[in-house]
Amino acid sequence: MIRFDKVVKRFGDNVVLRELDFQARPGEHVTLIGPSGSGKTTILRLLMGLERVNGGTIQVGDEYLSHMRRGDKLVPADERHLRKVRRRIGMVFQQFNLFPNMNVLRNLTEAPISVLGQPREQAEARAKELLDMVGLAEKLTANPAELSGGQQQRVAIARALAMQPDVLLLDEVTSALDPELAAGVLDVLRDIARSTDVTLLCVTHAMKFARDISDRVLMFDGGKIIEDAPPAEIFDSPREARTRDFLQSVI
Ligand code: ATP
Repeated sequence: MIRFDKVVKRFGDNVVLRELDFQARPGEHVTLIGPSGSGKTTILRLLMGLERVNGGTIQVGDEYLSHMRRGDKLVPADERHLRKVRRRIGMVFQQFNLFPNMNVLRNLTEAPISVLGQPREQAEARAKELLDMVGLAEKLTANPAELSGGQQQRVAIARALAMQPDVLLLDEVTSALDPELAAGVLDVLRDIARSTDVTLLCVTHAMKFARDISDRVLMFDGGKIIEDAPPAEIFDSPREARTRDFLQSVI
């Protein structure tokens, strides 16, 4: 579960999120769409603890991410608390960000062993299952530089899942890829959405993918959600003129 309560985020005078409220239920697949600069990536960065809120609270599962409890008070989270809650969240970026000096298997096992304390055998067995799931079982010993962009992105997805996250954040995961390579990555994500109970929060300009994968689509504009509906409704009969204009500009 993810819950934003009256979240405010400013960069100097630029108010990017204005008392933003939204929730994603456990296992729900939510996609954020909206014009460039509307704050979608900022939401993901807040969830990764890479930015701090200026107001409001963020919860992940039964814990606050933005805050921690001191007696009966809520105080801003310190680094240690952030790190603890952030462990429940995986993220896949536009640029795959694999560890370049480690082969595929080690990319997947490094954090489960060093952060979660998994025995190497267990981490390797799970890594092999995940690589099979993303169609790359034969690339176990390859280095990232030997893989195509689409393959690197599939490894990055498997690596995020190896940490057994409750929540997976996907930030424009196909925008650096050629269309054929992007299609392979989107197929993998569709399978994951169907076969796991991870909560997905995606930012994408790939509208067909958003339609296929989402339970709900949130349209952002001016730091607010202006429309929140199932994909068929948003894409086929949007209520808001700004949603219609945006969809016309991207489809
Ligand atoms: P896009 O679709 O282009 O990725 P977005 O909806 O994800 O856009 P954000 O990247 O969240 O938008 O940016 C929202 C606003 O916050 C923009 O005006 C941006 O310039 C500003 N912003 C984001 N990060 C920073 C930062 N570190 N410092 C200053 N301003 C920032």
